[in-house]
Amino acid sequence: MSERKSAIVTGSTSGIGLAIAWELARAGYNIALNGFGEDAEIAALQDDMESETGVSVVYSPADMSSPHQIAILVEVARRAFGRIDIVVNNAGIQTVAPIEEFPVERYEAIIAINLSAAWHLTHLTMAEMKARKWGRYINIASAHGLVASPFKSAYVIAKHGLVGLTKTVALEGAEFGVTANAICPGYVLTPLVEKQIPETALARHMTQEQVVRDVLLAAQPTKQFVEARHIGELAAFLCTDAGSQITGTALPIDGGWTAH
Ligand code: NAD
Repeated sequence: MSERKSAIVTGSTSGIGLAIAWELARAGYNIALNGFGEDAEIAALQDDMESETGVSVVYSPADMSSPHQIAILVEVARRAFGRIDIVVNNAGIQTVAPIEEFPVERYEAIIAINLSAAWHLTHLTMAEMKARKWGRYINIASAHGLVASPFKSAYVIAKHGLVGLTKTVALEGAEFGVTANAICPGYVLTPLVEKQIPETALARHMTQEQVVRDVLLAAQPTKQFVEARHIGELAAFLCTDAGSQITGTALPIDGGWTAH
């Protein structure tokens, strides 16, 4: 078994997950990357992360909507590192549509990827973290884990559910040195949000410029997007000794959105 702790970061080929993977690698953890993308780009990412940080990096394309593939991701990380100490449940998708028009298959996919995958990954890794008396679950929820917006019914259900899962895991891990926290970002300008701009424009009968100004940044008193690297740094902090008594929380990093 490697002396070095290791982390699985789901959905880490893009956006927030990628930033978290980089920060955890810089902090010295071996990394299991996951998510979709071009093979050559992912291989280059693996090489860059290994050479810049000195940790080992593996990759699994496991689809988080499949419990069977989630188990394969765990096996890939165990085979490479012999241990899993940190799980970051980050993979997520979004659809914006009024509930009466919401495509049923998108509802099912959002619940599977944004919520059930976190349960499955925790189910498969909790025993070893408890046995080793150290572990970190970091669930990337959202401001939508704390408050709702119209036209995001599936996402709001999934993210509120993820906050509930976080609290339960925190209680089950509390006496075993295993913490669980949800990070609740406001808007971060990643491909997930860029894709929502035209969808929201359609649902709200607005131009795309109006969506950015009057919907996205209107929610955030700072009038600025959150940066993915800020979420990465917060995740890395939760893995330090100073994070050992922070558990069961839903931590907003949202420019003041949920202070309203
Ligand atoms: P993104 O689209 O940039 O990245 C999503 C990642 O998830 C990618 O690596 C993608 O390949 C992966 N992914 C998608 N479906 C998958 C599947 N079925 N199996 C495995 N991997 C899959 O999105 P992002 O903005 O970085 O979002 C990451 C997380 O942060 C999501 O859970 C999202 O809900 C949450 N979040 C984002 C924002 C924001 O403003 N961007 C705000 C709050 C919360």
